[in-house]
Amino acid sequence: MARRNWTHEELLLAFNLYCKLPFGLYHNRNPDVIALSHLIDRTPSAVAMKLSNFASFDPIHQSRGIKGLSNTSLADGLAWEEFTSDWDKAIWESELLLARMTNGNIDSANPELSDEFAEFDVPDIDVTQVERITKVRVGQNFFRKTVLANYGSQCCICKMPIPPLLIASHIIPWRDREDLRLNPHNGLCMCVFHDKVFDAGYLTVDEEYRIVVSRQIFEYLPNDSVEMNVARHHRNKILLPDKFLPSQDFLKYHADTYFLAR
Ligand SMILES: [Zn+2]
Repeated sequence: MARRNWTHEELLLAFNLYCKLPFGLYHNRNPDVIALSHLIDRTPSAVAMKLSNFASFDPIHQSRGIKGLSNTSLADGLAWEEFTSDWDKAIWESELLLARMTNGNIDSANPELSDEFAEFDVPDIDVTQVERITKVRVGQNFFRKTVLANYGSQCCICKMPIPPLLIASHIIPWRDREDLRLNPHNGLCMCVFHDKVFDAGYLTVDEEYRIVVSRQIFEYLPNDSVEMNVARHHRNKILLPDKFLPSQDFLKYHADTYFLAR
């Protein structure tokens, strides 16, 4: 059978799966890999290989000495550049494509959308507004799936593993940088408790990925709960993701802007 080049749409779908699937699952027996292979009429091995190719462009793997595979192509590299330079566009386009190809409904594929949407008085909403709400929901769902997958569904501070209690937390909040709201380098997986502690500035993460606890927390000691849940993490390294390492610039911004340093 003649080799068929990957189309832009196929690369986009593979990139979408690359983000949402933990690194260890890029193999031809994974059900998500098999599902995509059926969708685009390729073998599961070809899809798994494409995911591994994308991994070789991810700086986190380059820094671990994982070399680019010999069959990565210029097209793969260009696609990687394109998708990671405009997250909003890549996510929206790939999710729309996925919904269309699976005859799925983009609203039901992004469950919170229906709930939020129900709060609006539909006749008063013009198409632009509906599309805006849909886009926000699609983006939030994608960001959450990606961040949880990256951290093996564990809090990066305490390793708590219960998904309904995990948040895809932003290092730089939406209100400060809307352009970073879907960028996984701006995400940390945290339990609901540590998400609040981080947001309030009682702890931050330094540029070497060590947890720094505010002096204001130590003022509550001795106290078993404060010791157990916050103080003991001081100077420990966070659990690092298996792709899309948190940006050191974004961490520095959090430390400079929100951390209660005194
Ligand atoms: Zn936690």
